[in-house]
Amino acid sequence: MQSKIAHAAERKAFSIALDQIINAASGKDREKNLDRLVDMGSKLLKDTAPGAARGLRAGLYPGSKWEEFLFGLMDEVDHNIIKTAVLNGGYEAAFRGLRTCTENAEKYQCNVPWIILFDPTSACNKHCIGCWAAEYGNKYNLSFDDMDSLVTQAEALGTHMFMLTGGEPLCRKKDIIKLCEKHNTSMFNIFTNASLIDQAFCDEVKRVGNIAFSVSLEGFEQSNDGRRGDGSFGEVMAAFDLMKANGLLYGTSTAYTKNNYKDVTSDEFYDLLIEKGCRYAWYFHLMPVGAGAGTDLMVSPEEREYMFHRIREVRGITGGKPIFAMDFQNDGEYVGGCIAGGRVYCHVNAAGDVEPCVFIHYSNANIHDKTWLECLQQPIFQSYRSHYPFNDNLLQPCPMLENPEILPEMVHEADAPCTDYAAPESVDDLCARTTPYAQSWQATAEELWLEEHPTGKKIYADELSNMNVDDKAKIIAAEDEKTQAVTE
Ligand code: SF4
Repeated sequence: MQSKIAHAAERKAFSIALDQIINAASGKDREKNLDRLVDMGSKLLKDTAPGAARGLRAGLYPGSKWEEFLFGLMDEVDHNIIKTAVLNGGYEAAFRGLRTCTENAEKYQCNVPWIILFDPTSACNKHCIGCWAAEYGNKYNLSFDDMDSLVTQAEALGTHMFMLTGGEPLCRKKDIIKLCEKHNTSMFNIFTNASLIDQAFCDEVKRVGNIAFSVSLEGFEQSNDGRRGDGSFGEVMAAFDLMKANGLLYGTSTAYTKNNYKDVTSDEFYDLLIEKGCRYAWYFHLMPVGAGAGTDLMVSPEEREYMFHRIREVRGITGGKPIFAMDFQNDGEYVGGCIAGGRVYCHVNAAGDVEPCVFIHYSNANIHDKTWLECLQQPIFQSYRSHYPFNDNLLQPCPMLENPEILPEMVHEADAPCTDYAAPESVDDLCARTTPYAQSWQATAEELWLEEHPTGKKIYADELSNMNVDDKAKIIAAEDEKTQAVTE
C-alpha cells in the first residue's frame, strides 16, 4: 500500500502537470498539447482501466469530434472545476483509489467499491408520477455526521467517487456543500431535478470545485412534464442556462421506456443537450422494482436492440455527437458486467441501509450499526462476490433483470431482509415479474453478443483486465513498492 508521503508527492506532481496542461490546452497552441493530455490520461488509466486508456488514444486526435468535445470543455467549464474533476475523479478515484480499493479487497477478502451512491434524504420537492419519493416524503435523512463518517471511512479504504441520489439531494444543499468542501480529495456527482439550483448555489459549487451534476430529464417538454409535472422541462432548461453561464460540469440522467426511447436518443435531443452545455447523457433501463411496479413501459427486445446500436453510434470515434452517452444496461461489457455488491459500487439509502445496488433493496447491514468495512463484509455482498459474473454474456449482466433465478438464490443464501422503505416485496415476487422479460431478451442478447464475441466470452486486449482481484492486487502492490522506492 502506498505511504501517505508518496501519495502526497504523487498528487502534487499530477496537480502541477494538470495546471500546465489546462493552461496550454486553453491557449492558442492547444492542438500541439493534445498529445501530452492524452499521455497523462493514458498513464492514469493504464493499470486500472486499460480499455479506457486505449479508447482515449483512439478517439483523441487532431480534428476529431472528441478533440472538439475536449476543447469545448476547456473553453466553457470553470478551470477550477475541470482541474478538480480530473484530479479527484481521475487521479484520486480512477487511478490511485482504484488501486487502493483493489489491494484492500484482497486484504479484507470482500468487495471494496471505488464508487458509492448514497441518498442524503428521502425528501423531494417534486411529485413525479411513479416515483416513491413523492409518497415517502421527508421520513429519512442521513445527518451531516452520518455522511461525513461514511465518506471518511470509505476514503480510508480508497473510495473517492461519490454519487448523491434520493429523494432530491439538493433539499440538503448546505450540508452537501459542507461535505464536499471537507472532503476535497473526492469527487461528488449529484443526481438532481435541478429545480433548486440558483446563483448562490452555483457560486458555492465553483468555490468548492469538486461537484458535477446529472440532471433528470425524460424527453422533450410533453413527455418530460407528463411524468415530472407541468413546467419541469422549462425549469431544467433554465437551470442548464444558469449552470452553463457559471461554467459548471453536468449532463443528464434518463430512464428509457418504450414511450421515450426514440425521443431521448434523437439528433434533436442531443443537439439541444449540447447547446445547453451538457457533457454526458446517462441512460438507465427501467427497473420494475417495488411491490406493484408495472412492466408495461419496459422496452421490447427490438427497442433495446435499437438502444444498443444507437448509443454506440452516438458515442463513436467518428460520427455521432460530441457528448458522452452511456447506457448502463447495454454497456455492461465495458465494466465487466454487473458492478453491484461493492465490486465497483454500492448504494446507501437515506435510512442508512447498505444495499448492493440502487435497484436491489436487500441488505444485512446499516451504517448506523456497523463500520463501513463491516458493511462491505455483509453476507449479501459476499454472495455477490462469490456468484459474480452472473452471465458470460455481458448483455445479460443483472442477477435481477436478465438472470432472475440468481438474485433470489443470493438473497436467501444471505438471509437479507428487504430494505425498500417505499414498497417492500419479497425477492421471489420481484424476480417472478422480471422472468418474462429475461426470457424475451435472451435470443436477441445472444445474437448481438456472438456477433462481437464468437467464443461467447469477452476476451480483453490486456492481461490485467482478464485477471481476478487477488492477482491484480499483487501486481499493483509490487508496482507501488517500486514507485515508492523511487520517491523515497
Ligand atoms: S444489480 Fe443489476 S442493475 Fe444493479 S448494477 Fe448489477 S446489473 Fe446493474
